[in-house]
Amino acid sequence: MTTKSVEQTFADAMKSIARRADLKTYVEETPAIYRLLQRAAAKYVTGEERQDGLEAGHRLADKGYAVSLEYIGENTADVRACEAAAQELSMLIQTLAERELPARVSFDLSHIGLSLDGELAYKQLTELAAQAQRHGIELFISMEESAKTDAILSIYERAAAVYENIGITLQAQLNRTAQDLNGLQNSPGRVRIVKGAYQEPGHLAIPRSAALNERYLTQVENAIRKGHRVSIATHDETIVAEVIKRGWIHEPGVEFELLYGIRPDLSSRLKKAGYPVRVYLTYGHEWYLYLCHRIAEYPPNLFQALIDMTGAGKADPVLEYE
Ligand code: FAD
Repeated sequence: MTTKSVEQTFADAMKSIARRADLKTYVEETPAIYRLLQRAAAKYVTGEERQDGLEAGHRLADKGYAVSLEYIGENTADVRACEAAAQELSMLIQTLAERELPARVSFDLSHIGLSLDGELAYKQLTELAAQAQRHGIELFISMEESAKTDAILSIYERAAAVYENIGITLQAQLNRTAQDLNGLQNSPGRVRIVKGAYQEPGHLAIPRSAALNERYLTQVENAIRKGHRVSIATHDETIVAEVIKRGWIHEPGVEFELLYGIRPDLSSRLKKAGYPVRVYLTYGHEWYLYLCHRIAEYPPNLFQALIDMTGAGKADPVLEYE
């Protein structure tokens, strides 16, 4: 019998809290709690409005970072809300083009229709891809829980056969990912490799461990060998050091990508060393789940959240990037 570490138990508990719809509703409907948690979220989310994401994006671009922007939201279960989300993403693409900020636009397919109807998600994705392509902007699909992996990959492959400016995220923690990567032979677009933020059953995934790091590195190597441009999306220094040591960071189109507010010291160090670094920024009202995931990944963030909730001013993580 294996015993879970305290960290893993805490992470699993936080991920369960993240999925509790009743708690999310309680937070959203209780202004005092909402405002308190919003202060904690400011460490990882630029703000609720597009303008907040754009402003932080410009400031980071001025410092020499590439940026991705995500309009946060997932599991949207109402057609009008899915259409509104796609409309917001369309406005974001338009604004990026006007302001000449070369950002990548990221989102969950379940924010634009997947939870209701795959065809709605496909239609909205391809409309956004067509618009983004006219402006030379790249779109990126996030990966969600394993129950959705087949649907997400199938929509991605259909859309990527028509539009070259769409990338896909793969989760190293899932046992199926090596096969999924092999299956992308007709979709040569950019691949982002992450460990995986969702709590998955033991027969489908492996937890944080040296074995997961090895698997992550194997997937990076395979993706590069298959000719993909690869985003190495991790804050794990062991993986980062191996990628540098093995020379993969010098392969065409390979970059490090880190979440806004997490390990800005590592982003700064990598950029100073001359490696391509992209910061992944988020904005939007649906920050609750995102905040829970960031705390689950690193338990000391719970203490940081308490400090931020009781502190005087709003966090400004951009200042921490050199
Ligand atoms: P971990 O083993 O979790 O952490 C390694 C070390 O990094 C920790 O010891 C700590 O020092 C530091 N660290 C990690 N997380 C934190 C934190 N929250 N706060 C402070 N320090 C931390 N997941 C998905 O499931 N689907 C997606 O589409 C997706 N997109 C992503 C896009 C980007 C650009 C990135 C960077 C991550 C994305 N993730 C996504 C999240 C990812 O799956 C992991 O949950 C997250 O990156 C933490 O894993 P890690 O690789 O940093 O390694």
